[in-house]
Amino acid sequence: MLFDHPDLAYASKVFDFTPDLAYVPDCELMKGGSGYSLTRKVELPDYERIMPDYSLYGCEYAIGRFTRGCPNRCPWCIVPKMDGNEVRHVADLNDFWSGQKVVRLLDDNIMADPDEFIRDCEQLSKAGVHVIWEALDIRLVTDNTARALASVKQDKCIHFAWDSHSQDDAVPRGIETLARAGIKPYRLMFYVLVGFNTDRDYDLYRIYTIRDLGANPFVMPFDKTDRYQKNLARWCNNKIIFKSTSDFKDYRP
Ligand code: SF4
Repeated sequence: MLFDHPDLAYASKVFDFTPDLAYVPDCELMKGGSGYSLTRKVELPDYERIMPDYSLYGCEYAIGRFTRGCPNRCPWCIVPKMDGNEVRHVADLNDFWSGQKVVRLLDDNIMADPDEFIRDCEQLSKAGVHVIWEALDIRLVTDNTARALASVKQDKCIHFAWDSHSQDDAVPRGIETLARAGIKPYRLMFYVLVGFNTDRDYDLYRIYTIRDLGANPFVMPFDKTDRYQKNLARWCNNKIIFKSTSDFKDYRP
């Protein structure tokens, strides 16, 4: 067979606690991804533009990214270390989409370049695909980016995050701007990071405010072994419990 003895194999993993593959071919091995290193790069020009072999994964949606990089430096996040602080265009839709109904995007912070975001939304809208976004940045929602987002079919809720005080004003303003563009608040989900550098009052303030604005909060515990964080996530993220027990202090885990 042609590929009995490869010259080079690539291995990657996202988490450092994931065990390595038990079998690797007997050849040169290049390991990468955040599970191995935050700085090692694939030594292939334009590798983002290589069409994935979707048959390998039994994956019904297309997966890829238009951009890499994020101008922010959130202290809990590895993106700036891995992908840098400058948002740069790395691929177009046709590089990673081969006709699937749904496209899952992995961009770090695509709205940080509004012109790029608007262009990418045009490609997605023209293709008629349903999109699953990585969390978008509510601080960067303007009338223009909101209109572009509204022109794209959404596969599920559109995700944003409210992790720190730097987003306090942006959340109500962003929800209002999106509503003006035709995206109703109930279609939005906000990740709420808890247990990193916030106190319990502020955790609940964010959850209740998002709910009162008609959107959906989703708690992201920084430490999943911490009892308070675990209970808060169980209460908030289970929609049946969250609706029937409106106050966290009434929740009995
Ligand atoms: S905005 Fe998002 S991608 Fe950028 S540094 Fe913060 S958490 Fe990471």
